[in-house]
Amino acid sequence: MIEDGKVSFWLGTNTNIHQQKENENIKDEFISIASHELKTPLTTIKGFFQLIKREVSTQTTLGNFVEKAERQLERLTRLIEDLLDVSKINAGKMIYNKESFDFSALLADTVESIQHTTKTHRIELHSDCNITYYGDQLRIEQVLINLLNNAIKYSPGSQKIVVRCEIENNNLIVSVEDLGVGIAEEHLKSLFDRFYRVDNSSARFQGLGLGLFIANEIVKRHGGSFWIESEPGGGSTFSFLLPLNGQQEFADKATDHQTYYEGSFIRMYYREDEHYMEVEWLGYQNYDSVVKAAKSC
Ligand code: ADP
Repeated sequence: MIEDGKVSFWLGTNTNIHQQKENENIKDEFISIASHELKTPLTTIKGFFQLIKREVSTQTTLGNFVEKAERQLERLTRLIEDLLDVSKINAGKMIYNKESFDFSALLADTVESIQHTTKTHRIELHSDCNITYYGDQLRIEQVLINLLNNAIKYSPGSQKIVVRCEIENNNLIVSVEDLGVGIAEEHLKSLFDRFYRVDNSSARFQGLGLGLFIANEIVKRHGGSFWIESEPGGGSTFSFLLPLNGQQEFADKATDHQTYYEGSFIRMYYREDEHYMEVEWLGYQNYDSVVKAAKSC
């Protein structure tokens, strides 16, 4: 506590979390071993399913059963791969194979393949991202697949999903918008935590709460960041930014260095007489761009 510019009192606490950390390590180790062991028989089963499909026509009842079983097998594979990814991230062993690829082709292919998996939703793609991007194509695809699957899963009552991509100041900005259940504000900051699921949706929708944790890690490893806009009952938009030069750039548009700042994604005024700041979001937003604007006002 500081009184008259002097420290008059201070208080500190220490909490021993050794046991908690030990338990976390044991859990991580278990997840790592279990997911590895589960993957091997799964790969074999998938191989046999391919052989069965060659022998059975999809038009028959049996063919129909085989297709249904295969879809569940795909889900199981995704869950196990998510667990494996999490253990890799925790151990700092996630490897990124970066190379140049056509970003708009990746978007179009991913949207098309996810569109094939749903009869209930229509995915619209609006892309201005005809650009060659340097990054791990499969991992970026994984981020998109996760956002699209979530958009479908968490919007059972609606049909439309919109994917947008644009380039702003040497940043790629991708967003996936749904008209689904939405998320209450108090949950937004925890969504990227491991195993975090919103209480009222976890009973209704299946999942492990790992997809966004992994997606966030992948985007961070490309120098980017996430941003969410959502309203309960009003749908959600998940956006992520990928810098084209490895580092996020936010261009200044106008500022008087005192009371006004306008950047690529934010407009901020300082109302001197009333001592408050007014902020207008102009699109994508993150911590760095807000700090930059605030410092200029
Ligand atoms: P999972 O979907 O397996 O639970 P995720 O990490 O992908 O895991 O998502 C974490 C949580 O964030 C979800 O449990 C859900 O509560 C919330 N969420 C994610 N995407 C959406 C969305 N598009 N609409 C509403 N809630 C969402």
